[in-house]
Amino acid sequence: MRKAIYPGSFDPVTFGHLDIIERSAQIVDELVVGVLNNRSKNSLFSLEERVSMIKEMTKDYPNVTVASFEGLLVDYMREIHATLIIRGLRAVTDFEYELQIAQSNHVQNSEIETIFLTANLQYSYLSSTIVKEFASYGGDISKFVPKPYIDKIYKKYNIK
Ligand code: ADP
Repeated sequence: MRKAIYPGSFDPVTFGHLDIIERSAQIVDELVVGVLNNRSKNSLFSLEERVSMIKEMTKDYPNVTVASFEGLLVDYMREIHATLIIRGLRAVTDFEYELQIAQSNHVQNSEIETIFLTANLQYSYLSSTIVKEFASYGGDISKFVPKPYIDKIYKKYNIK
């Protein structure tokens, strides 16, 4: 049984994230999308909102579940018996940080491996930050996030 976690802030979830979820769900037996409750980061969406948005989007994938966690990823993985971490790599700018985190996690627990999926070319520019930046000025975000979330995001910026 290969149980993996795809951890992230998902604030909000984008087409880029969904692409990684879809592709990694085909590689592993069980995939947990782990939404990080990061107290130090000011998030646009609450933890509950982020979890429910991803649940809605992944409800047709039988081997995908969505959960929130806080604290160290390695501790949470021990709790849920997951040994693989899935991360997406968009560009070299992601690489240095990701390498450091992957190696630190492996040092913490040698059973843990990180698998990187390269971003789909179509979404390699896309980040939650870009979505927020465009949405905050009322820009078009229809190519960034699934339709049901567009208004939810605008609403956060009081944009109709
Ligand atoms: P974090 O704060 O942990 O970086 P994010 O929600 O920004 O959380 O990203 C979660 C994971 O998804 C990271 O591995 C990130 O590289 C990946 N990711 C984000 N956007 C994309 C994208 N457009 N294509 C592929 N992977 C992505």
